[in-house]
Amino acid sequence: MPKIYLVDVTNRDGVQTAHLGLSKIEKTLINIYLDEMGVFSSEFGFPTTQHERNYLQANLKMAQRGIIKNLVLSGWIRGIVDDVELAIKQVPEIKHLNLSMSTSDQMIDGKFKGNKTREDIINDMTEAVDAALACGIQSVGVNAEDASRTDIDFLVKYGKAAKAHGAARLRYCDTLGYDNPFSIYQTALTLAQQVEMPIEIHCHGDLGMAVGTSLAGAKGAIDGGQDAYINTTVNGIGERAGNADLVSVILAVTKSKDFGEKYQLAGNIKLDIAWKLAQFASYAFGVEIPINQPGVGRNCFAHASGIHADGVLKDPHNYELYSYEELGRGEPLLVETGREICTGQYSGISGFRYVVKTMSQKIPEDIRLPTNKEAANKILELVRYANVETHKPLTEDELKFICQYPDIAQQLLTNTP
Ligand SMILES: [Zn+2]
Repeated sequence: MPKIYLVDVTNRDGVQTAHLGLSKIEKTLINIYLDEMGVFSSEFGFPTTQHERNYLQANLKMAQRGIIKNLVLSGWIRGIVDDVELAIKQVPEIKHLNLSMSTSDQMIDGKFKGNKTREDIINDMTEAVDAALACGIQSVGVNAEDASRTDIDFLVKYGKAAKAHGAARLRYCDTLGYDNPFSIYQTALTLAQQVEMPIEIHCHGDLGMAVGTSLAGAKGAIDGGQDAYINTTVNGIGERAGNADLVSVILAVTKSKDFGEKYQLAGNIKLDIAWKLAQFASYAFGVEIPINQPGVGRNCFAHASGIHADGVLKDPHNYELYSYEELGRGEPLLVETGREICTGQYSGISGFRYVVKTMSQKIPEDIRLPTNKEAANKILELVRYANVETHKPLTEDELKFICQYPDIAQQLLTNTP
């Protein structure tokens, strides 16, 4: 039976969102958490963008060293040979690429203004796939941007051409959130049956249906006999109204009525990382988690009215579909209400030692701040640089990361315009 794979695009779609962004160390922590959660792949950035280079290389090094264990790190570029060549020149270690092309007449006419035909789109894409595979790229995903407004016959032709040239899967992008669950089911089914390759579903929430359309699209692909890949972002952060939220997609696949019996997630997804990941992304993006966010919102397990409170106290199943423990919730949050010493870009060694010491119960002995003055100062210097990017106190996991892997931290914090 084909399965559903999760491809998280927070570090690509999420970070290109207006008013929002992540520092390189924050992107790295997102990758670490996604790996811990058992997510199949992270679309981890833009290999043709100069300031991404050191971050991408550092994360690939983490994968080589087994710090990132199973997460497939895939770069996003445009589907043209120039981008393939530049990506490989800038990040020679990269092994997985997603190539994006606009396929709808709206985009072809509206963006290329008569300079490209449908045939040109297919030619550019297949040349780019050929170039990537010739350069040793292990898997090439081919994206159809604005697929939901693309003529289905052309989309099938585009997918078949991608497959014939060795692409691993076809990404169906509902770029404007135009699909509904019924329309995307039919299209994904048709694509799976006619193109006969795995179908990736990329949905946006402009009409409030990103999670629903993602599930329906995955169902279509699987009913058509192919594996489905669902694109998600942490807390649903993405262009405009956002993408399908990672935690919501996992909950919807595994907990919704009758769905999970036939349509199953691939791999071993650890839902209990959800709380930690959502909290971190909220802190890193500077965007509060909505009170009613599925699974991780404050009110998900809160009950006030008499009948609900009485019912849930008698048996949680009366008013809760799943338990908070499953999402890794339930531990008390400690908020400092008195004196606080925290890290910043102008931190000194004495304050920094205090910060590390006060959180040291959670940091294992072997990765605590070195007693050696020079080594400790080197870590402090990295923490300062991290703060130059983040502008807020580093989290325990960020500090732990820097203490544990200073060489990698140094690489991803290095940016030379
Ligand atoms: Zn998108």
